[in-house]
Amino acid sequence: MSRTNFYNVDLPELVKALQSWGEPFDQAHALARDIWHQAYTASVTDFSELTGIPPRVQQQLAGAFALRHPVELAQSTSRDGSTRKDLLALEDGAQIETGLLRYRDRHTICVSTRVGCACDCSFCATGRMGFVRQLHCDEIVAQVLHFQRWLTTQDKAVSNVVFMGMGEPLLNREQTLQAVRRLTDPRGLNLAPGRITLSTVGIAPEIEYLADVHSRWPIKLAISLHAATDDLRTKLMPINKTYPLARLHEAVRVYTEKTRRRVLFEWIMIAGVNDTQEQALALVTWLQDLASHVNLIRLNPTSAYDGTPSTGETTEAFSAILDQHKIPHTMRQRRGAGIDAGCGQLHARRRP
Ligand code: SAH
Repeated sequence: MSRTNFYNVDLPELVKALQSWGEPFDQAHALARDIWHQAYTASVTDFSELTGIPPRVQQQLAGAFALRHPVELAQSTSRDGSTRKDLLALEDGAQIETGLLRYRDRHTICVSTRVGCACDCSFCATGRMGFVRQLHCDEIVAQVLHFQRWLTTQDKAVSNVVFMGMGEPLLNREQTLQAVRRLTDPRGLNLAPGRITLSTVGIAPEIEYLADVHSRWPIKLAISLHAATDDLRTKLMPINKTYPLARLHEAVRVYTEKTRRRVLFEWIMIAGVNDTQEQALALVTWLQDLASHVNLIRLNPTSAYDGTPSTGETTEAFSAILDQHKIPHTMRQRRGAGIDAGCGQLHARRRP
């Protein structure tokens, strides 16, 4: 019989298992917390790596549970070492990408929430794969543990997580939120919810759901906007047919009112497509009554999309219009362009 993955087990289940092996109640609780803490913070791959846990318990754990980690198939690191992206294989052979962005004071992991994606955004490499399957909560957490394990060898730890890898997290909402619960568990990785950002194409009813559960899951919300008129946005992001800009606006208004948090809007700068004065002004109008922050990011070129990144000059001009209208924004440094770090690109490169 195949053993249950340890990373799928809850703490009370672990306590129960320890009690069933004869540990007295108090001892079972103390041991469970210790095992749990080590398993997540040190991301152990073998129960014998646990320190201070009796060998008898280590053996019992190994008999009952497996510590399943994805297999690393490929790794690419930017020349300056600040960005790394790994292609990981899951148990069924499905492949996903996970990224690490290193800053002086933080280590951000970019996780996938689905294998492939059905959204089919024209500029996105993952879209070319189509949708394969949902990721389970433990497969989302495993991506963070993959890098946590490596970071601990350098006396570092994961500090932030962004749901900006492959797939649309709000089309896998429950598993994504369960992963958030694991990542923020004070007895494990203990990440502050404010250090977790979920990025969505704009599934309006799901954004409203996030607003309703915000007190339980006070994570940050980012929306990939990329265009501020329906015709252009539908061309770039077919999801706009289902949730056009007016519907999305309504959801964001509900979200900002209920949560009193601003929303981050991502805008990839594509030369001659969405970097025009007309789009900048449409964006200003669309954002007028919303608490927002805009991130301007240069397009990461991919082979399946013939768009090119906007020039620095055009980006400056676009930014100047936002400035004039007092729209808070930043021009995000493009990370990882040299390592195929755009969504789905590493996977695309491995395919014939
Ligand atoms: N499905 C979610 C999260 C995954 S994509 C979403 O769309 O928000 C994470 C971000 O990468 C999104 O803002 C997406 O639009 C952006 N992205 C995809 N392809 C890109 C490319 N070639 N260059 C730059 N950004 C890209």
